[in-house]
Amino acid sequence: MLAAVVKERGKLEVTDVPIRSPNNDELLVKVRKASICYRDLLQLEGYYPRMKYPVILGHEMVGEVVKAGSMTNFTPGDRVVSLLYAPDMTCDKCKLGFENYCRNKLGYSEELDGFFSEYATISAKSAVRVPTNLTDELAVITPCVTAMIYRGVKRSSPNVKDSTVLVTGAAGGVGIHAVQLLKALGARVIAQVRSEEKARVVKRFSDLVVVGEKYAEQIKKEDVTLIVDTVGVQTFFENVKAISAGGSILQVGNLDPSSSAPIRFGSLILKDIKFVGNASVTSADVRETMELEASGKITPIIGEEVPLANVKEGLNSLHEPSRVGKILVTP
Ligand SMILES: [Zn+2]
Ligand SMILES: [Zn+2]
Repeated sequence: MLAAVVKERGKLEVTDVPIRSPNNDELLVKVRKASICYRDLLQLEGYYPRMKYPVILGHEMVGEVVKAGSMTNFTPGDRVVSLLYAPDMTCDKCKLGFENYCRNKLGYSEELDGFFSEYATISAKSAVRVPTNLTDELAVITPCVTAMIYRGVKRSSPNVKDSTVLVTGAAGGVGIHAVQLLKALGARVIAQVRSEEKARVVKRFSDLVVVGEKYAEQIKKEDVTLIVDTVGVQTFFENVKAISAGGSILQVGNLDPSSSAPIRFGSLILKDIKFVGNASVTSADVRETMELEASGKITPIIGEEVPLANVKEGLNSLHEPSRVGKILVTP
């Protein structure tokens, strides 16, 4: 089968590899759609120290089970998405329902082969069934995008209904879905973008749009109680200024992991700011998010779709400043 393989740090090759048949507790899945994420670039560039080489890149996919191990509860024909990791489901964290903190978890596209391939062999413990009324386009972005926001919001600011939330980088693959998810949860949403062109795109999903990097002043009367930041260091100080006292900053993006932000703790303490990171989700988060998505309130925004053979072009498109929404890969 065709697969995008990271041979060594920075070296990606689309090449022919054998299909690995599933063990008793695994599934062989025919990939219907995969999607591209900033994390793919960071993994390719070597920011993930647990990566083994060679490894198939990609951690977002929806597919159809074609062969199910005898110890699994799946059958051929089931449509599934995968968590970003395989948990053991036996350690103390897993038993408490925190399989995302599993002590022995292995990451797809890290220690395990990922999903930019025609078929993927995954642990049944990573698989979550997709409701029949959910499109592939929405399903594929659930574990790493919408469920990630869903869990992060639950942890940082559980009662967003009728409160005002700011989403930074709101036209990006994460941002534009964060805006819609927060609307579906009943929040009033301000979308921050870098250009007028992007403002036109996010306008129809949000209540207010702010353009440019100095947005705190523009929204100081809005009582922003939660900021969902998809950017990182570039927006950090503006976020600290923009958040209301007692509010939360949910950090889900980090476009430049080599940079850092020196912060005076006084500004966090005196405003009672809750600063929350969020890296992963559980099966339950994915299921709950899919229920919300099945209500029809979230439209997947796909900026581009590339065939598997052209995955490198898709990855390069992440740098395209005018890009809006997610980039899909079709095997
Ligand atoms: Zn991702
Ligand atoms: Zn575990």
